[in-house]
Amino acid sequence: MSEFTNVAEIFGSNVFNDAVMQERLPKKVYKELKKTIEEGKELDLATADVIAHEMKEWAIEKGATHYTHWFQPLTGVTAEKHDSFISAPDKNGKVLMSFSGKELIKGEPDASSFPSGGLRATFEARGYTAWDCTSPAFVRQDAAGATLCIPTAFCSYTGEALDQKTPLLRSMEAINTEALRLLRLFGNTTSKKVTPSVGPEQEYFLVDKAKYLQRKDLIYTGRTLFGAMPPKGQELDDHYFGNIRQRIAAFMKEVNEELWKLGVTAKTQHNEVAPAQHELAPIYAECNVAVDHNQIVMKTLKMVACRHGLQCLLHEKPFAGVNGSGKHNNWSITTDDGINLLDPGTTPHENIQFLLVLACILKAVDTHADLLRESAADVGNDHRLGANEAPPAIISIFLGEQLEDVVEQLISTGEATHSLEGGKLMTGVKTLPDLTKDATDRNRTSPFAFTGNKFEFRMVGSKDSIAAPNIVLNTIVAEAFAEASDVLEKADDFEMAVHDLIKKYLTEHQRIIFNGNGYSDAWVEEAERRGLPNIKSMVDAIPALTTDKAIGLFEKFHVFTKAELESRAEIQYETYAKAINIEAKAMIDIASKQIIPAVIKYTKSLADTVNAVTAAGAEASVQSELLAETSGLLSDTKVALQKLIDLDKKSAEVPEGAELAHYFHEEIVPAMAELRAPVDNLEMIVDKEMWPMPSYGDLMFEV
Ligand code: ADP
Ligand code: MG
Repeated sequence: MSEFTNVAEIFGSNVFNDAVMQERLPKKVYKELKKTIEEGKELDLATADVIAHEMKEWAIEKGATHYTHWFQPLTGVTAEKHDSFISAPDKNGKVLMSFSGKELIKGEPDASSFPSGGLRATFEARGYTAWDCTSPAFVRQDAAGATLCIPTAFCSYTGEALDQKTPLLRSMEAINTEALRLLRLFGNTTSKKVTPSVGPEQEYFLVDKAKYLQRKDLIYTGRTLFGAMPPKGQELDDHYFGNIRQRIAAFMKEVNEELWKLGVTAKTQHNEVAPAQHELAPIYAECNVAVDHNQIVMKTLKMVACRHGLQCLLHEKPFAGVNGSGKHNNWSITTDDGINLLDPGTTPHENIQFLLVLACILKAVDTHADLLRESAADVGNDHRLGANEAPPAIISIFLGEQLEDVVEQLISTGEATHSLEGGKLMTGVKTLPDLTKDATDRNRTSPFAFTGNKFEFRMVGSKDSIAAPNIVLNTIVAEAFAEASDVLEKADDFEMAVHDLIKKYLTEHQRIIFNGNGYSDAWVEEAERRGLPNIKSMVDAIPALTTDKAIGLFEKFHVFTKAELESRAEIQYETYAKAINIEAKAMIDIASKQIIPAVIKYTKSLADTVNAVTAAGAEASVQSELLAETSGLLSDTKVALQKLIDLDKKSAEVPEGAELAHYFHEEIVPAMAELRAPVDNLEMIVDKEMWPMPSYGDLMFEV
């Protein structure tokens, strides 16, 4: 780690950012590139050649020997293939370092090894990566030396998206177009571009690396598959915001420095609810940059942890019985001239505009709750959603008392004349409360909460990319904006039409608003009465991707084609089945080779003791009782293990796709729970010296 005097000095030092481009590129080239970045103008090859050359020179100064097209295939993690800058040696055996515009703009990794759903069967395996110049290139320094990373989108030969980036960029275009259309109706002629802003809060666990290496379940699956609760869990709430231990503090310091160098605005850090759990949040950024940065954050956490003899666990549920990890996706919509459409503001026009935007979002989320739920579905998140530690699997919106009151007034009378706090704000036609000053109580149990000038989508899993939720948010809100504009553009009396529309949307979609306790059973019942979907698992969430409603939505805004949606659904099913299969196999392995042998040893030592004590003429009732109990649990374990083995074998006969995923969900997952139960009981009985792996207590409290 290099020493530095202040943050400003290192911030962005490894990023080919605007300042660097302005400094290094010829004026004309810089202007051309800016046009591409800001207006989407196509870049010609001659310009790209100049940019590539300067980028290479800059990267080499930073020590880079290689470049990579950095992309986000549908594996959930990033992918990269490294090429060095060297060209073929000349006749004197000398090499030059070269990098052409073509190499910058386009790459050609073999697409056949990445998940493509049905697309692989229908189309050629050929795939291309294309430079996303709206997200800056950067030099990453690690054990491999320094590498120039070029953010790219990844598409098939026929243009189908094989990644997260392509649809994300398409969704940003959709919301840009439709938000501008709406803004023009309100008389805004100055804003040129509207971009979603995103700030993801990242939760994670840190455990000691040496202990981690003794847990095959963590190594293979990222979570513990066995483990009895330690005497202390999180009940005292003493970890949340607690004092950060020195070892962890040193880790965080280095994470921050690495992130700052890469231009990631690491801002907030604290201990989270569970022991050994922490959180990191950057300052929000443009949606696609935020998505890239979140991948960089996850990678950096892992990398730096290794240097500190730690292991970073990003899994949604590393430990049963204590809180898991998630990601809060803070989302708002901002114009290029600094107007946040979700800021209630202080001027009358903006307030009406804000209410319409709000009404559109309520409509969008209510109409497409199933899609939003699906966007947060991943294998690990099944352990959290609805388990009283994270939002329920039911989508609802928290507005806060004050805003909800305004909405109620608008619905019942068509006018909002007062706010609960009594503060009034003239809108010209109606009065509205100053919402920014009167932040109502927070509600941690809501999956989708309005927090002053943004919405916070709290369902996302800690390991998952935030691309999917943002694709959905951008597109569904674009649709609601488009539908509002369709009505308003035809209206004779705009003022009247806006108010009618706000009232209509609020009335039709008020069922999505819920300010109460989202963890309560009463809410589950109430939501059912309201007809809100309660989609409990990943496998049940996947069909939302391919409904006529979803296809209509995504095709209308050119975000996904039907084929792309079908391929994504297929990949989700595949991912689920594979992940659970790995977990089941890891459990079988650990139970057979580690746990049962350890327990057998323990029973032998008990039996020896019983014999020895009895032979010595004393009573060995305690030892005998323990032996009986242990033997009983051992036989329960063996029975459950055999059942899991048999069921897992049978999975080979189940057709792939939805059916197989359901088989794993409905047959294998319960069988895994059945195996875990006796093993966790055994862990409470068996001599700690003999237990074959570190306990929950060792992992969580001895970091
Ligand atoms: P908390 O929810 O823990 O109180 P903060 O209010 O500090 O956290 O914000 C959490 C995240 O939300 C941060 O990443 C922050 O940058 C981001 N954020 C703040 N304002 C906005 C906004 N207008 N749009 C999107 N994200 C935002
Ligand atoms: Mg938050």
